[in-house]
Amino acid sequence: MTLVIDGHSLAYEMENLCRLFYPREKIKTVTEIQEGDPFVYTGVKRLPEGIRLDVRLKAGKTERNHSELLAADTDDMELGRRMAVVLWNMLSEVCGIRPAWGILTGVRPIKLYGRLASQMGDEAVPAYFQEKLLVSPEKTRLARLTWDNQKTLLSLSKPESYSLYVAIPFCPTRCAYCSFVSTSVEKAAHLIPKYVELLCGELRRTAEIAQSLKLCLQSVYIGGGTPTVLSADQLAEVIAAIRGNFDLSDCREFTVEAGRPDTVTIEKLAAMRVGGVTRISINPQTLNDEVLREIGRKHTAAQTLSAFELARCHGFNNINMDLIAGLPKDTPESFHQTLKKVISLSPESITVHTLALKRAARLNQEGAEGLRADAAGRMVSLADGMLPQSGYRPYYLYRQSRMVGNLENTGWAKPGFESLYNVFIMEECQSILACGAGAVTKLRDPYSNRIERIFNFKYPYEYIGRHEEMMNRKDRVKEFYESIGRHR
Ligand code: SF4
Repeated sequence: MTLVIDGHSLAYEMENLCRLFYPREKIKTVTEIQEGDPFVYTGVKRLPEGIRLDVRLKAGKTERNHSELLAADTDDMELGRRMAVVLWNMLSEVCGIRPAWGILTGVRPIKLYGRLASQMGDEAVPAYFQEKLLVSPEKTRLARLTWDNQKTLLSLSKPESYSLYVAIPFCPTRCAYCSFVSTSVEKAAHLIPKYVELLCGELRRTAEIAQSLKLCLQSVYIGGGTPTVLSADQLAEVIAAIRGNFDLSDCREFTVEAGRPDTVTIEKLAAMRVGGVTRISINPQTLNDEVLREIGRKHTAAQTLSAFELARCHGFNNINMDLIAGLPKDTPESFHQTLKKVISLSPESITVHTLALKRAARLNQEGAEGLRADAAGRMVSLADGMLPQSGYRPYYLYRQSRMVGNLENTGWAKPGFESLYNVFIMEECQSILACGAGAVTKLRDPYSNRIERIFNFKYPYEYIGRHEEMMNRKDRVKEFYESIGRHR
């Protein structure tokens, strides 16, 4: 596809919009008219009488043209919205599909919903979502429910609040759809002892900085990878480094991702209980063994059920379970069975992801035959219908690029079991101090929208080999908060 950008700076937004309709097409963005099929032209001319907007689409023998004059004082946001609406309508007509999130291509539709609510009042947003942003009635309703549940959680975050993220970037094997930085233990087991030792050092340094700035820790999340790939002793060591160095007196939640059921043991559950972990996540993704094999997870549905049972027996009363809609070989019927079984276990929260085919994922490289957007859409609709009937409410939602069917990931929880960390990170309402390989510290100025990121080295061997260099970057946390003090 050729996309012409003439006289405006909305290339990124228009490219993402075209990708909704042509997910597999390579998009060539140019500034001068060139031939191509499909071909999209988007042009803006500022004239004395107003702003002229031109959009043209040519796909095979079909052609569409649109031209209009906008008021001269139209701001860039409205100009972008208008251009997107015109192009979306053309593409929708020509391709015969209506992406459910309308012209929204960003990852945080609820953040936008909240911003609009503060500008125009809660009541006016659903109509704006549907009429001005072309979001479907179903997704508008989902966004409204999510926002309603999220508002009170966001209000718990104070200017001095922050959360801590700890990365354990190792997994038993690599899932076919994985695009995270995660190394299979088969290849990297020898790195783990040194990694844990250095990670504990980074945690100590981070705690010192947080305390010197009088920041207040609200939630802890040990994620990955699969943190429970560590031995019980290593897990206990990491948790002890957190407990021993951070002030946890205001911490409301301590999560460990026990993602792969085949890594959950009595000893590890005991280490987490003793260490004060309040929430764990055991992720079946699917309870269909054939699908599990297809995606490269070397465990069975039965192992998920036993891991869940074991965690319950060890006193875990806040368990999340992740599912993925759109997996290869999965069908709406089999997804329905998975969902029914998971609901019958009554975990406190269920997160329904849609498969995202990122560039790094093996599935994508293999062509991902058999993936169908309509099947994923039906699976997500099943979840949206069944979960509220079973007492779950949506409380956080985000989207990723290249999601099958351009759908979304939604966190559902029973009232009182919503994960604060998930809301805080997704809505970017507080700083996240992050430790470990691939971790990204996100500093947020509570008095403005300014966000600054500090990147740790991505891979465990770099994390180990260049540790000092990376630790020095931590000083930027101090500089950031000191600069807030100066500018207030
Ligand atoms: S468990 Fe998660 S991080 Fe690990 S390989 Fe699978 S998708 Fe990637």
